[in-house]
Parts: sequence; C-alpha cells; structure tokens
Amino acid sequence: MEIKRDYDLTGLNTLAVVAKAKFFVVLEKASDIVELFSRSEFKGNKRFFLGGGSNVLFLNDFDGIVVQNKLKGIDIISEDDVSVRVKMMGGEDWHEAVLFCVNKNYWGIENLSLVPGSVGAAPIQNIGAYGTELKDTLESVEVYDVESGEKRILALSECKFGYRDSIFKNSAKGKCLISAINLKLSKIPKPNISYKILKDYLEKNNISSPSLKEISDAVCQIRRSKLPDPKVIPNAGSFFKNLLVDSAVIGSLKEKYPDMPTFKDDSGVTKISTAWLIEQCGWKGKREGRVGMHERQALVLVNYGGATGEEIIAFAKKIIASVEEKFKLAIVPEVNIIE
Ligand SMILES: Cc1cc2nc3c(=O)[nH]c(=O)nc-3n(C[C@H](O)[C@H](O)[C@H](O)COP(=O)(O)OP(=O)(O)OC[C@H]3O[C@@H](n4cnc5c(N)ncnc54)[C@H](O)[C@@H]3O)c2cc1C
Repeated sequence: MEIKRDYDLTGLNTLAVVAKAKFFVVLEKASDIVELFSRSEFKGNKRFFLGGGSNVLFLNDFDGIVVQNKLKGIDIISEDDVSVRVKMMGGEDWHEAVLFCVNKNYWGIENLSLVPGSVGAAPIQNIGAYGTELKDTLESVEVYDVESGEKRILALSECKFGYRDSIFKNSAKGKCLISAINLKLSKIPKPNISYKILKDYLEKNNISSPSLKEISDAVCQIRRSKLPDPKVIPNAGSFFKNLLVDSAVIGSLKEKYPDMPTFKDDSGVTKISTAWLIEQCGWKGKREGRVGMHERQALVLVNYGGATGEEIIAFAKKIIASVEEKFKLAIVPEVNIIE
C-alpha cells in the first residue's frame, strides 16, 4: 500500500474541481485497512473517504489524507427459494453491482441502475431514484471505526436512513469507513414501476409486465436522456435536495403558488421540487463565469471548465439566497462539501 503526497484529485471528482490531497491512498485489499489504521499519515491527519467522487465538492486542497476505497467483491451469503442475501464490498462500482443482481434475477435495486459512484457511498445518503431507496433492501452495513480500527456491523435501524440522509451524514460523519453492505433481494419478481416517469416510459414502449432487465434498461434510458453526463459536462447530479415540509407550510404555499409541484414519498412526507423553486428564481440555464445551472435540469450545477470549489459554492449560495428571498424557504445542498 503506497501513500502518495500532493495527489491531484481533479480526475477523481465528477465536478472536475481542481484540488490536491496532502496524502492519498487506495485501499485494494482487506489487509490494507489494518495497515492504513496503523500509519502515521492516517492517525495524525484529517481523513476523507472517497468513492467515485460523484457527490463531493472540494472547496480547497485537502490538508489531510484522502482514502479511496477500491475493495472489490460481491458474494452470495445465503439464499432460499424466495430471497438471497448478497454482500457487496464498498469499492465495487454501484451500477456494476446492480447489473450483477439484474443478471442473476435478484429483484430490489434495479430502479437504482446507473446511479454513479461506489457501493460504499450508497448508504451515506441512502441513494434513491425512481421510487426506490437503498434502505428498501439493505440489511446491514459493515464499518470500521476510524479511531479504534474496530469492525462493526450496523443493522438497518442503526443507520437512521431518511431522504438522502443517514447516520453517516450526522453523528457518524467522518467516523467510519464503510467496507461493505449486505442486501436482501427477492428471487420472486417484485417490479416497482409506480414512479410516474418510469411508468409512462414503459407504457409508451408497450411493456406491460416488464422483466428485471427491462426495468433496469428503462431506468438507464430515462437517466441518459435527462441527466448531463459528467464526462461531457462536469457535475455532481442534483446539487440540492428536494425540500421536506410539513402540511401547514405546504397549504399556505399552495395557496400562493398553485402550480408548485409537491409529491409525497412512501413515508407520507411531502416534498417540494427544489428544481421548480430554482427555476422560478430564474436560475435554470443561467451561467456566471465558469459555473452554471444546467439548461434542462435546474438542480444540476455544472462546471463549464476550470471552476474552483470556491466559485461553485459562491454560485450555489446565490441560488440559496434567492430562493430564501422569494419563497422564505431554506434549500440545502445534497452534495458533500469538503473543506
Ligand atoms: C450524474 C449524477 C446523477 C446522480 N443521480 C443520483 C440519484 O439518482 N440518486 C442519488 O441518490 N444520488 C445520485 N447522485 C449522487 C451520487 O451518485 C451518490 O451520492 C453516490 O452514492 C456517490 O457515490 P461516490 O462513490 O461517488 O461517493 P463520493 O462522491 O466519493 O463520496 C460521497 C460521500 O460519501 C462518503 N464516502 C464514500 N465512500 C465511503 C466509504 N467507503 N466509507 C465512508 N464514507 C464514504 C464520502 O466521504 C462523501 O462524504 C448522482 C450523481 C451524479 C454525478
């Protein structure tokens, strides 16, 4: 295991922000974890765990150690006629792991096809798309405590998952390395196609009882048509979260703005479309210098080339301020801001 110095992170974050890490190391095998925890560069410095870099904004150079997780492996732990338990190592690519399950006919994560990034980052914000969240199939998360080096298994309930949220973004933030996740998937078909865009797509293509692969392919097609590819135009997907609001607030907002899109999630919580709020404030397609809001996606902040973390956050702050001024609502970033 080689710890490198002054390592360039520009190619390791999908916003393509230019930043360096004082120290940088890649975990490739289980024994690297033990070695890492004994190294002075790790013990005596700020630490940051990096996956695919698709949900991070480096504000500056990182004055500490960046640890990239590339621990690989997908194993079937147990199975019966109806379900299967799968362990996925944190350094696996998320979409590849989804395809592994799709090809084996294991149902449960197909709606999360093509979400960029690593398996190890998936629990951080409880990734979600097209009516499915990671928590719907997750049984437990394997973590290493960064202080003690001790390995622990966190059960689903301990992860405190919410909308783009978990214990790993709150009390456990930065305190553990996620080495693996355990999912329970179904061998019996369980299509979840109630999400409107997905449902409409399947109907339009005359697919009435879709196979697992047809759902995964449909999700990929929809995503490719809607979201800008970070390799073409650097971005981190939705820069902001949708807003969770209580019913009293929704009532008065709806009176004032009858067109305001709102939707209820599975747990009955109402969300306001942050993209709509941003668009109403005139930011959709707007560019300032090297940063802008995508012309088709009012949630996707893009780097037109060479923008620094400071430029991107300054642009994001202007958007936050104008939404606050117009709607008296405080929108928050979904992207992890790294200082
Ligand atoms: C085009 C695009 C579309 C997207 N669409 C979606 C979507 O539909 N739904 C959705 O939920 N997200 C979406 N995202 C966001 C992103 O894909 C997810 O947040 C993903 O889980 C990030 O994975 P990553 O490996 O790139 O994490 P990184 O960006 O590398 O890291 C994100 C956070 O996770 C932490 N982390 C990463 N790995 C570990 C680990 N092993 N242990 C501990 N902490 C770790 C990091 O410290 C950081 O805080 C999208 C992003 C892009 C660019």
